[in-house]
Amino acid sequence: MADHLEQFRERTRSWLEQNCPQSMRVQPGTRAPGELSDEVAWGGRNEHHTNPDVATWLALMAERGWTAPLWPKEYGGGGLSKPEAKILGEEMRRLRCKPALVGFGLTMIGPLLLEHGSEAQKKRFLPEVCRGEIRWCQGYSEPGAGSDLAGLQTKAELVGDEYVLNGQKVWTSYADKSDWMFILTRTDPDAPKHTGITFMLFDMETPGVTVRPIPLISGASPFCETFLEDVRVPKDQVVGDVNNGWTMAKALLGHERSMISEIFNEERERNLAVEAARKYIPGSEERIADASLRDGIAQLTMDKVCLDLTIARTKEAAKIGHQPGPESSIFKYYATELNKRRTATMVSIMGPQGLGWEGEGFEPSETQAVKNWLRARGNSIEGGTSEIQLNIIAKRVLGLPD
Ligand SMILES: Cc1cc2nc3c(=O)[nH]c(=O)nc-3n(C[C@H](O)[C@H](O)[C@H](O)COP(=O)(O)OP(=O)(O)OC[C@H]3O[C@@H](n4cnc5c(N)ncnc54)[C@H](O)[C@@H]3O)c2cc1C
Repeated sequence: MADHLEQFRERTRSWLEQNCPQSMRVQPGTRAPGELSDEVAWGGRNEHHTNPDVATWLALMAERGWTAPLWPKEYGGGGLSKPEAKILGEEMRRLRCKPALVGFGLTMIGPLLLEHGSEAQKKRFLPEVCRGEIRWCQGYSEPGAGSDLAGLQTKAELVGDEYVLNGQKVWTSYADKSDWMFILTRTDPDAPKHTGITFMLFDMETPGVTVRPIPLISGASPFCETFLEDVRVPKDQVVGDVNNGWTMAKALLGHERSMISEIFNEERERNLAVEAARKYIPGSEERIADASLRDGIAQLTMDKVCLDLTIARTKEAAKIGHQPGPESSIFKYYATELNKRRTATMVSIMGPQGLGWEGEGFEPSETQAVKNWLRARGNSIEGGTSEIQLNIIAKRVLGLPD
């Protein structure tokens, strides 16, 4: 076994060295936690990159199934064992390879379909996800249903073999760039609110779908409103059973929360706060001069190591295709609150250099640190707010009364 893994490592290393284009390797010091430059494939029919290496890298990795290393080969994945997938991750980090593909297909709807999709749905959607041919958005939140998600009102009525959807979604990240949406709809308005919900999938080009980006003060925005007017969805695009959408919703949120806790984590090999302190706090070349900052950074570093180890332990224990339970709320809560502390520490270390948004007088790493700090606030809202995670932990992990 050890031999086999060593050979796998050798083969993987040499394949990556030969095939990962130079421009798809991150230059040391240029990536901040959670930052994915636009030179990464999100996939889908609306995607265009000026750098042709993005598509080349995606095609090469997808051919081996390595965009989804743990998924079965028959659905476009790599069919790797967990130790093999771990080695692939380690070797990619060693060479600083960018991911060949990112997005909600790989991290949210794909894992849900693997567990709850029909065979026909798995065969239809998963290979397209792995090849980056389809980009997904999430239609959960509505103007009156955020934390109280089960209060959603978007109606789906069965007419013949199709559901007819009417309603509005909001905060739909990247709806304007996506090909398909996974959506929660109300199929039984008379049932108690958690039991009359159905989870389904539809093509964003279906007549009756209107997407309006929501401009933010920064000028850039991933957010959209999505309006649905008599949108017809074939009933074989329901995932799980009709009126059982709340179970699907929770399963998918488990995947989303695990993903959020991982992507906003810092690179393991570096301690950006220590590097920043050396640069911005005079007299800190050897030992950080400010004692309280030293304590703060030490605490952040220990908290991060504990989080990493706990996530790794849980992952190792989990079966492939495992559906994360309420433990994903612990990770989501802890990782996003940690990210808020970490990004706030970074801008405070930078002093006046940590106040720039754009323009001369600021290095790209400085304006990026400010953007990371502000973006981190959204971390503890998306996928369910920190308060909601604490409610879930209290009820479902600790068993406290309502
Ligand atoms: C960056 C980002 C990306 C997002 N992307 C998507 C997306 O792609 N698709 C999608 O569907 N949605 C998306 N959302 C929306 C997100 O899921 C909601 O914003 C979130 O669930 C909170 O809902 P709300 O904004 O309606 O706030 P509310 O539910 O109105 O909450 C307001 C405040 O009240 C608190 N609160 C509410 N209920 C309770 C309670 N029971 N106990 C304690 N405190 C409570 C909350 O914690 C919060 O502080 C995104 C949000 C962000 C920030």
